[in-house]
Amino acid sequence: MTVRATSRGAQRTSLEGTRAEVLICGASFAGLAVARELASSGASVLVLDRYEIGERQTSACACPTPWLEALGLGASIKQELPYMSFTTPRGSVRYRLPWSWSSFDYRQLCELLWAQCGEARFETAKVESLGQRRADGTVDVITDRGTISAPLVVDALGWRRVLCSPHYQPPEAPLSRGLEVHPEHDGSGDALEIWIERSIVRRGYGWRVPAADEARIGVGSYDPNQHVKEPTVALSERLGRDPINYQGNWFPHRLRAATEGDIFFAGDSAGHCFPLSGEGIRTAFYFGIACGRELRAVIEGRSDRAAALAAYESFNSGHKRPFAIALALQRLIPALPPRVLTALLAIIGNQRIVDRAFGWYLDQAAPEFAELGSPPEASKLSDTRVLAGVPR
Ligand SMILES: Cc1cc2nc3c(=O)[nH]c(=O)nc-3n(C[C@H](O)[C@H](O)[C@H](O)COP(=O)(O)OP(=O)(O)OC[C@H]3O[C@@H](n4cnc5c(N)ncnc54)[C@H](O)[C@@H]3O)c2cc1C
Repeated sequence: MTVRATSRGAQRTSLEGTRAEVLICGASFAGLAVARELASSGASVLVLDRYEIGERQTSACACPTPWLEALGLGASIKQELPYMSFTTPRGSVRYRLPWSWSSFDYRQLCELLWAQCGEARFETAKVESLGQRRADGTVDVITDRGTISAPLVVDALGWRRVLCSPHYQPPEAPLSRGLEVHPEHDGSGDALEIWIERSIVRRGYGWRVPAADEARIGVGSYDPNQHVKEPTVALSERLGRDPINYQGNWFPHRLRAATEGDIFFAGDSAGHCFPLSGEGIRTAFYFGIACGRELRAVIEGRSDRAAALAAYESFNSGHKRPFAIALALQRLIPALPPRVLTALLAIIGNQRIVDRAFGWYLDQAAPEFAELGSPPEASKLSDTRVLAGVPR
């Protein structure tokens, strides 16, 4: 449940005129992953969010366990789920995955990530829009606490893509919508459960993620026009649970440009949430790390802003194919007759196929990437190019 910790009113002083080398807007999965890559780089890093770090959970918080381990976030795990089950109107299948999911505690995970962000500074502020680009190359970002400027600016603010104009706005934008409830749970279960039934949602799916003392039961619709409250309540009641502690949000289902003008985008702001599954935490980590490595190359004089923007965009574009495949499946699967879908799920249930399919899926943003400790190939550009006007 949300506990408000954010300072308000007189507790908020002005940040007008503040300058940093790197300004990261958004302190959730993507933003913290960027900041983590800049730890001990010597850069002045300022992270902004409208809420305190970890205050506002917006997802079911299930992530492949190998990613949580690779990032040193294992202590936030609430329940490990080695299986997935898929239920259609014609039956259920249960897969043993080649890796496991883990549900985690959002606040704890964010705090653990933040502890790895070195000297980075955090302020609560609502980011309103992009301001002007100054003669020295720095960029103004307008917030409700004043204008802040930095040469390197990251939008990790989620689906709305605040630092571009116009913003993404549902229902026209390629966005899905999700809502879930968090009733009490007894810690039982070893599977992340999925329901693909048109009676629940026409184009989308329902889920139950056991998380020790609570279950996260929700419904996601690929169609932004379809409301998901009724189906969420219905699924929760069908599972014999009270629909309490609601949380919901939009999430993108189409890859977007990862740079625009002088701005870097990571996570949902760049459409990094994977279509079909709606899994966006792992990819926010993955692209956040890639972005952070490019920024670090600039800070260390191995690159400049223009080269870093180009390299990061090229890294992003290198992932177009898997995102396109997943989007095609997102369109195809809801159109399949339940009988065909059930038969397909049964065929995939062969362990060798499960291992290959879910191995491919994990490989699209593999946990080893977190451990590489070096910038993505595209960033190994040059030696001494430094961004003009970077205040140190
Ligand atoms: C109901 C639901 C369940 C989901 N479950 C899962 C799941 O189990 N596993 C999974 O992998 N994915 C899941 N997703 C998708 C996942 O939540 C997103 O893809 C993921 O959160 C993206 O991370 P992010 O850091 O890019 O953005 P976000 O997590 O959305 O973070 C954006 C941050 O920016 C801040 N912010 C936004 N606007 C402003 C502003 N104007 N000024 C200042 N701060 C601002 C927010 O407070 C927030 O901290 C789910 C989505 C929904 C809606």
